[in-house]
Amino acid sequence: MIAYYLLAALLLVLVCAYFRLPLLYWTFALAIPVAFSGNAILIAIFAVVALLFNVPVLRRAVFTDHVLAIYRRILPDMSSTEKEAIDAGTVWWDADLFSGKPDWDKLLAVPEPRLSAEEQAFLDGPVEELCAMCNDWEITHEQQDLPPHVWQFIKDQGFLGMIIPKHHGGLGFSALAHSAVVMKLSTRSGTAAISVMVPNSLGPAELLLHYGTEEQKSHYLPRLAKGQEVPCFALTSPEAGSDAASIPDYGVVCKGMWHGKEVLGMRVTWDKRYITLGPVATLLGLAFRLYDPEKLISNKEDLGITCALVPTNTPGVNIGRRHLPLNAVFQNGPNSGKDVFMPLDWIIGGPDYAGKGWMMLMGCLAAGRAISLPTSSTGGVKALTRFVGAYARVRSQFKTPIGKLEGVEEALGRIAANCYVMDATRVMTAGSVDLGEKPAVLSAIAKYHMTERARASVNDAMDILGGKGICLGPNNWVGRGYQMTPIAITVEGANILTRTLIIFGQGAIRCHPYVLREMRAAKELQGAQASREFDDAFTSHIGHVISNGVRTFVHGITSSRLAHVPRNAAPETLHYYRFTSRLSAAFAFLADMSMMAMGGALKRKEKISGRLGDVLSMLYLISATLKRYEDQGRIKEDLPLIRWAVRDMTYHAQHAIDQILSNFPIKWMATLLRWTIFPLGMSFRPPLDARNHDCAKIVLEPGAARDRLTAGMYVPKGEADATGILEAAFLATVACEPIDEKLRKAVKKGKLLPRPGVDLGSLARENNLITAEELAQWQRKEALRKGVIKVDDFPQDFGRAEVVLRQDKPFSVKAA
Ligand SMILES: Cc1cc2nc3c(=O)[nH]c(=O)nc-3n(C[C@H](O)[C@H](O)[C@H](O)COP(=O)(O)OP(=O)(O)OC[C@H]3O[C@@H](n4cnc5c(N)ncnc54)[C@H](O)[C@@H]3O)c2cc1C
Repeated sequence: MIAYYLLAALLLVLVCAYFRLPLLYWTFALAIPVAFSGNAILIAIFAVVALLFNVPVLRRAVFTDHVLAIYRRILPDMSSTEKEAIDAGTVWWDADLFSGKPDWDKLLAVPEPRLSAEEQAFLDGPVEELCAMCNDWEITHEQQDLPPHVWQFIKDQGFLGMIIPKHHGGLGFSALAHSAVVMKLSTRSGTAAISVMVPNSLGPAELLLHYGTEEQKSHYLPRLAKGQEVPCFALTSPEAGSDAASIPDYGVVCKGMWHGKEVLGMRVTWDKRYITLGPVATLLGLAFRLYDPEKLISNKEDLGITCALVPTNTPGVNIGRRHLPLNAVFQNGPNSGKDVFMPLDWIIGGPDYAGKGWMMLMGCLAAGRAISLPTSSTGGVKALTRFVGAYARVRSQFKTPIGKLEGVEEALGRIAANCYVMDATRVMTAGSVDLGEKPAVLSAIAKYHMTERARASVNDAMDILGGKGICLGPNNWVGRGYQMTPIAITVEGANILTRTLIIFGQGAIRCHPYVLREMRAAKELQGAQASREFDDAFTSHIGHVISNGVRTFVHGITSSRLAHVPRNAAPETLHYYRFTSRLSAAFAFLADMSMMAMGGALKRKEKISGRLGDVLSMLYLISATLKRYEDQGRIKEDLPLIRWAVRDMTYHAQHAIDQILSNFPIKWMATLLRWTIFPLGMSFRPPLDARNHDCAKIVLEPGAARDRLTAGMYVPKGEADATGILEAAFLATVACEPIDEKLRKAVKKGKLLPRPGVDLGSLARENNLITAEELAQWQRKEALRKGVIKVDDFPQDFGRAEVVLRQDKPFSVKAA
């Protein structure tokens, strides 16, 4: 009999946990079988325990105050820089994914981000024009810089001040528009895109907007907006790369002469490297540690990291030399200064902001990170999708367009599906910035995964293009992008660190519904306030873990059938929402169990935290993909891209969980976790080859689906350059296929005998097999095709004998 009561109690607890009911409901639910048991001792014990756990004062006295004491002992102290990094930015959809029960209706109710008419006009006008002005080979190889007229156009049209509000003379664009501009430029010239992207990302303008004094804003912002000042931001030092907070560059508060008067200022010494736009900058945003040994402005000696704006013509500033980052020619180089005296009001925000530089940098990091690299990577992949797809249709081997050979198709389909996911993520992340978020964790996810997907896609592209992608020259439109890919991986938080430390590390604290509250109660609050806050957070946390465990198990044994879905999503995608809800519950449960098992050591267990970050990231990317499908009106033609991508991502998330469990340090816990998460085994399968075929087909055919997938990119109109010819050849190839088929059949039936030195079309015309118009069409296609498959060659000495050795043009080779 007792077994029945226990079973009933267990079932009731499971129901309460599944539906996340408050503790009082659990107590009532358990009270029923206990009361029915009629066992007086059991009832008495139950009554005491129920009272202890339901009355907060008692619960705190017997339970949570003791946990708080232990927690305070084991919780490591955080440095102020760590704390500022954790506190920076906001949480949004990431909090839902961390909750284990994402509210899909809330996500789908967010309106689709849209450009204003003015922003669209800028894209169709100045951006289109700038793209047309850029010839990547000339820029990267012959001039090793943007030509002066291109620089001038960028400045005159306000490209450097997109984030500066109109009342300060800037364009005042939304984050989405800023992203659309950078994306379009990236489809044409990486150099132009980066040169525009950097002043609009974390740097002088952004810092001034948030922290500048009125005087600094009114002086610098209009000048930055119009390109009268070219900014750069210098944080990285030879000794401090990823660990940027440890910069050895320093300033000392002192008195000095400034314009003939003695003023309070600082003597700053620095040695920076890798600074983008540094060599041509007129305004140097400089981060250094400020000391006040004589206590002239504060009662502290070490004031902390400080950010100042230094005109580069200040005596003592050494700037102008260049690095050569993997043959990319955007301006990038070192700069330094020794004991350079500058007034205190060069500190961004004025002397009051001395020592607040790290907080300022962390506070502004998310918006730029959400846009720059996710966007430029998406642009790169859009260009690959369109142009590699076109090439794979134009280029034939074994009498077949290479895109129709299964091996090539596999890589092409991957590129296409990646492109959909990346654009969806770009739009959703930029959209969140326009909603007022500073998405600290989501921007890190976007940065890591968009750059990694760009790397995977460019590798696929190189494999598809063969020698055409390898031989550099004006006719190679992919080689420079391939060379530059690792730059995106390294900057704005190198990817390994971003994956292993930031995505999950910051996510586990910021996005988790209870961890930050517990930490604050333990470290920042005292007495009864700490006790009450910790008790509430901790008991809710326990309920949260049990609930996610139960949900995970239930979803596992019901193949996600009960998992939460939105009310109004397309029926054809509902199962993907179910899978994602299930994975979200599993992730939330596993994250909590990992924190419980490893505590503070989890921070050093980067192989585990990196994989937890991968699961969270897949959930975000899937969310963006599904939302895109809804936002765009459920276009059935696009469905193969969504199907392939979502299955691929659920499979990857499952794989990451499997790897965590295989390497979990406590084996019995790993076994229990595996039974809970995969009670019927690992059920998510990789995407089907048939879907991959459909994805590749989208980019092998001209049409609306291909245009939608690559929307927002620059497509050259004429046939003057390599991608212009490619686009024309693609359309001509497809249009000519019936004629090619006629010729093929005629040859097969012996009606047409190929003759050396005479093209097949002319022979067919001679034999009246095609009309004169058809011949003209076929010959034009052939001419374009030959243009497309052409690669460049150079003189034996690469033209050294002809090189005019000028200081600004050390090496210039013209292709034959
Ligand atoms: C082309 C280019 C442009 C740049 N532009 C600017 C600029 O404008 N302004 C500016 O201030 N800086 C700029 N940077 C600097 C850039 O932000 C740094 O390169 C970056 O922060 C990494 O530093 P690092 O190169 O010294 O690598 P390191 O810090 O030496 O890192 C090496 C490797 O170790 C990994 N790693 C480090 N710490 C950890 C950890 N705790 N856990 C796991 N892995 C870790 C990293 O992920 C990386 O893979 C630029 C760099 C380049 C290459």
